[in-house]
Amino acid sequence: MNETMNATTSQSIIALEDKFGAHNYHPLPVVLTRGEGVFVWDVEGKQYFDFLSAYSAVNQGHCHPKITKALIDQAQTLALTSRAFYNDSLGEYEKYVTNLFGFDKVLPMNTGAEAVETAIKLCRKWAYEKKRITENQAVIVVCEGNFHGRTTTIVSFSSDPDSNKNFGPYAPGFVAIPYDDVNALEAALKLPNVAGFLVEPIQGEAGVYTPAEDFLTNARRLCTENGVLFIADEVQTGIARTGSLLAVCGNCTCENKCERQTETYNRPDILILGKALSGGVYPVSAVLADNEIMMVIKPGQHGSTFGGNPIAAKVAIAALDAVEEEGLIQNARRLGHIFRKEMNRIIETSDLVVKVRGKGLLNAIVVNDTEDSPTAWNLCVALKENGLLAKPTHGNIIRFAPPLVITEDQLLECVGIIEKTIKNVELRIKNEK
Ligand code: PLP
Repeated sequence: MNETMNATTSQSIIALEDKFGAHNYHPLPVVLTRGEGVFVWDVEGKQYFDFLSAYSAVNQGHCHPKITKALIDQAQTLALTSRAFYNDSLGEYEKYVTNLFGFDKVLPMNTGAEAVETAIKLCRKWAYEKKRITENQAVIVVCEGNFHGRTTTIVSFSSDPDSNKNFGPYAPGFVAIPYDDVNALEAALKLPNVAGFLVEPIQGEAGVYTPAEDFLTNARRLCTENGVLFIADEVQTGIARTGSLLAVCGNCTCENKCERQTETYNRPDILILGKALSGGVYPVSAVLADNEIMMVIKPGQHGSTFGGNPIAAKVAIAALDAVEEEGLIQNARRLGHIFRKEMNRIIETSDLVVKVRGKGLLNAIVVNDTEDSPTAWNLCVALKENGLLAKPTHGNIIRFAPPLVITEDQLLECVGIIEKTIKNVELRIKNEK
């Protein structure tokens, strides 16, 4: 009786969304109502490990007390002024975030896509006013398989038909090269009017593609040699996710708040952040650059009603504080090694999973089936039944990205769930043959 009632609860909520919401997502059939740290609970009270972290927004864990407190305190004091006036939180945040990441200036926005749009506008304006490219001719080099968000300009240079089919006409001014291809990048940067190279240090949505060790170093060098801005989209990879504060930090093993002047740090000219900048509590994104670039934007030339609001400012400070105070960089790096080692152990005896790749706690496994097969989806449904939530990124690839507050014991428990589930699904497939 109880089970029927429970099933009805989830089902009726799913039906509600189905009826009244646009069908622009295909969620796993689980209805969540509460979260704490690495855990979320569904409306029937079942507990799950969250292995998606809202696409790496909840790096600091669900309902982090310090971040939540900052949100509540500021919401009760002053929520929004717009940038028509100063507020007494924004400057403090701007100082904090520019110090932490080592740039002269920050331009605050809300969502990741808005920050990418901001970076594109900034790059173009710099190109016309500083590099003296002929007006309207600027080109930005991007990578095939990219994911930078969902606006019309951004989907114009996506190679994913789901992202761009029937959303044209497409914005001009972008040239795509294969990801992780230094020779293609070198050739593209020689094209006329190239202003910037926009890249994800690891392609998250495409399926956690990690480039060759020296790709970013070479990209940085080539951009410098060609007078082109190196623009890093760290919306998904940034804020400790890959075991360093930023993925462009490379294999630098320094702790947080380093000078970031080591050889492995591939300093971007424009850095794009979002998601975990707020610990997933509030939409906060940012574009960072030095004065030479940022100051091309003058009053009235770019902005957003909500960008830089007092809640966002306080929440972001708390979220970045938590990363340092709780050693999340070190935790992600250490547990990432353990996770990939364990996945490789499972893969040795698995017919179903062929590969694990990733960095820090941004990882993916590749399922041995065609891209259009339902196997990865079915595996995620089975994982859900066993208490772990993850989703395929593309077809046969499943991303595993737990909150970075996960402990080693919890991670090993999750490895156990994943192993058991893979074995069960393998058995089911064998029996069906
Ligand atoms: N850039 C990257 C690398 C992303 O992964 C995403 C989202 O997944 C975005 C930009 C867009 O962020 P948002 O969904 O907040 O607009």
